[in-house]
Order: sequence, then structure tokens, then C-alpha cells
Amino acid sequence: MSKPKLNVVAIDGPSGAGKSTVSSELAKALGARLLDTGATYRAAAYIALQKKATSEKAFERIARELDFKISRDGKTLLVGGRNLGVRLRTERVSQMASFISQFKGVRKVITSKQRSVARRCSRHNPVVVEGRDIGTVVFPDARHKFFVTASPKVRAERRYEQLKARGVRVSLHSVLAEQAKRDKRDSTRAHAPLKCATDAIVVDTSEMTIKEVVGLLEKHIAGKT
Ligand code: C5P
Repeated sequence: MSKPKLNVVAIDGPSGAGKSTVSSELAKALGARLLDTGATYRAAAYIALQKKATSEKAFERIARELDFKISRDGKTLLVGGRNLGVRLRTERVSQMASFISQFKGVRKVITSKQRSVARRCSRHNPVVVEGRDIGTVVFPDARHKFFVTASPKVRAERRYEQLKARGVRVSLHSVLAEQAKRDKRDSTRAHAPLKCATDAIVVDTSEMTIKEVVGLLEKHIAGKT
């Protein structure tokens, strides 16, 4: 008999594809918990910046000391019991997260912590796990796998609008350039690069609303497509 699949919905894809909003709306619709694995790398990056860490060893040590939990309402990643919120969302933290996540040792430690957090919750509820390597490396045995993507232009425009709404002054041109840099690093790194699992369902959100995407995913999960 084959092993039962884990009660995990893996959602991978590049930044700006609408993954985060889709994941959180989907978790709400399914009554599932949400694990944002980008936030785990961002937390390590945030602390590395605070400590002015520069070496691979130091990044790994920081990763090892991190304690992750999902909040009681199932929506937020807590780091050492705290919600680091918008502190994790700056461009500096984004670039640093992309930088430190290249290192094998850092990935190994963080992947193992992601697994234990999600496994703990998936005993009682489904867990939506959002990231880059969830369906390929972290949970290859996830029950459902989706790869959510959109064209580079649409992704950059969405990010630009988000930043503008937050009062951050940037040009669309610089958002596109930063995105290209991060995409290249995320998809060409040697360890667990951003890649679509062979058994994932690809959803191009370029011309879809969030509601349509969530509806489509729900249908797949319910086996109605
Ligand atoms: O998803 P988010 O943009 O918050 O992720 C920040 C960075 O963390 C990504 O650019 C990527 O380098 C890294 N990451 C990763 N593996 C994951 C999630 C995020 O390498 N599963």
C-alpha cells in the first residue's frame, strides 16, 4: 500500500504571481492553516541584517536559532513568538532573503523547521504551504500541488502598485529590474531552485482575478475539474 499523502496544499511560484493573497484566501476558504515559507527566509534575513552577519556560517547559525510557530488563528508566522509583520517586507530584506536562501546549510535548517511546523498542524487541519520549493523539496508528498505564475510584466506591475499603496516611492522600471535579479537568483541557484514540480497544476494568473484563481484551486482540490 502506498503511503497516504500529507494534508498539505503546496503553492509554489515566483514573486508577484499573486501567491500570497491566493494562499491566504484559499486557507480561509478551506479552514486551513497557512505557512508562508518566504517569511521564514525573510525572518533569517532580517536578523542577519540586524546582526550585520556576512558569512554562510553566521547565516546558518541564525537560521538554527529561529523558532517558528503558526499563530492561534492559523494565519501568521510567529518568530520567537512574535509577528515581525512589515519589518519583513522591505526591499532590503527581500534581497537578503533571496541571497541567504542560496546556501545549502541555511536551506537544510529552515526546510526542516518548515516541515515540523506544517506536520504539527496538518494532523488536525489541512495546511496551505506557500513558497518556491514546497512541491519539489519540502513536501514532495503533498496531497495537492499548484504552481502559480504570471508574466514578468504583470508581476512587476502588481508589486509596483502594492509598494505605491504602502507609500514606498519606486519606479516600475526599478521594480522590474529587482524582480529580474531575484527571479534569476531563485531559479538558477544550485540548491532547491524555483521550479515547477512535475505533478503540479500550473495556474497563470496574468489575466485572472484572485477570486477566480482561488475558485479554480478549490475546484481542483474538491476534484471537480
Ligand atoms: O515568497 P517571498 O518573496 O516572501 O520569499 C522571499 C525569498 O525567500 C525568495 O526570493 C526566495 O529567495 C526565498 N524563498 C525560498 N524558498 C521558499 C520561499 C522563499 O528560497 N520556499
